[in-house]
Amino acid sequence: MTDFLIVGRGLAAAVLAHTFFKQKISFKIIGSVHLSSSSLVAAGIFNPIVFKRLTKSWLADKTIPFLNTFYTECENRSGEKFITQRNIIKPFSEEQEKQLWLKKSKNELADFLDGNIYANPENKYKGCLLPPEFGLVKQAGNLDIRTFLKSTEKIFDADILSEEFDHSGLQIEADKVLYKGIEAKNIIFCEGHVVKNNPFFGWIPLKPVKGEVLTIRSNDLVLHNSILNKNGYLMGLGNNTYLTGATYNWEDLSETPTDNGAQELKQKLTQLITGDYKVIEHKAGVRPASLDRRPIVGSHPNYKNLFVFNGLGTKGVMLAPYFANNFVNFYSQKEVLNKEIDLKRFYHLYKGVG
Ligand SMILES: Cc1cc2nc3c(=O)[nH]c(=O)nc-3n(C[C@H](O)[C@H](O)[C@H](O)COP(=O)(O)OP(=O)(O)OC[C@H]3O[C@@H](n4cnc5c(N)ncnc54)[C@H](O)[C@@H]3O)c2cc1C
Repeated sequence: MTDFLIVGRGLAAAVLAHTFFKQKISFKIIGSVHLSSSSLVAAGIFNPIVFKRLTKSWLADKTIPFLNTFYTECENRSGEKFITQRNIIKPFSEEQEKQLWLKKSKNELADFLDGNIYANPENKYKGCLLPPEFGLVKQAGNLDIRTFLKSTEKIFDADILSEEFDHSGLQIEADKVLYKGIEAKNIIFCEGHVVKNNPFFGWIPLKPVKGEVLTIRSNDLVLHNSILNKNGYLMGLGNNTYLTGATYNWEDLSETPTDNGAQELKQKLTQLITGDYKVIEHKAGVRPASLDRRPIVGSHPNYKNLFVFNGLGTKGVMLAPYFANNFVNFYSQKEVLNKEIDLKRFYHLYKGVG
């Protein structure tokens, strides 16, 4: 009997699979890529800084080193490359902002803010709209999530069933679950925002956010490996193509790209670059954000062998490896589940259905 059935085909499912593999916990994955595309659309950026308040992102001092080790191990396992270290260029709009940056770069944010103030010497960042001075965030970068998912599929190919999971076919017993002839001790659902259709976990309080991104082509830009961030971001993808994002929409939760979204992104581009460009792709997805902006991980209030791993929101790349490890250690009784992610905090919302 296998230890876990993983339901899902996005970042959460893939990160869990690698974590189980490392800890010698057996698993099978049942997933379809067609129900939710957040992971396929995301830029995959990890950024230790919250720019709005110039503070450290939640647990960044733990999640950033953890993700670097984790994804590097996955790269070694697959022989493919999907993680890139990049500086984030943060233009200053006023003197006060620069002074606060300098102060924090010497104190609580020393690990993450470069203490130098930069100009754009000899137009190093050609075609980018930069003010006279800007700062650089360290320990940032991005995961090419599509390549990570593809390589994960290759590694675990024999244990993946490419299909939609039919919840009505799940038989739950005290010490195991059965699904289409597969016996597993446990099942864990990593369904992103479509968890709303899950009869066992549809009640978990997500506050999903639709996001749109544009891929553009421009021959006039030089950004090197950096990410330019100014009320939106621009990141090089190679071959003169760049990704720009992202929008936030809490009302329209379809995964269809919209004209309004494209207009908003083009408006953002007017603040990021000077030259001409051609739009070559426009994509949308729905981020599985939670009500309190923390992941939602843990077991069902009634069925101890049913688990959920969700609520990765806008920061799946940073949060998933650290909390998949926390979950697996919790399952192996090596550590407790972090209280801030534990589904128990929402048990009071459970009305006994499913
Ligand atoms: C525009 C945009 C930009 C983003 N940028 C970033 C970023 O820069 N950095 C970052 O860290 N995060 C970013 N995110 C967020 C990131 O995408 C998410 O945190 C993360 O990918 C969520 O992964 P997930 O696996 O939980 O969900 P999903 O990606 O939604 O994956 C769920 C998977 O499960 C499958 N599935 C669901 N139900 C079933 C079922 N019943 N049977 C079979 N399969 C099923 C779905 O088809 C899907 O493949 C962005 C998101 C968007 C939309």
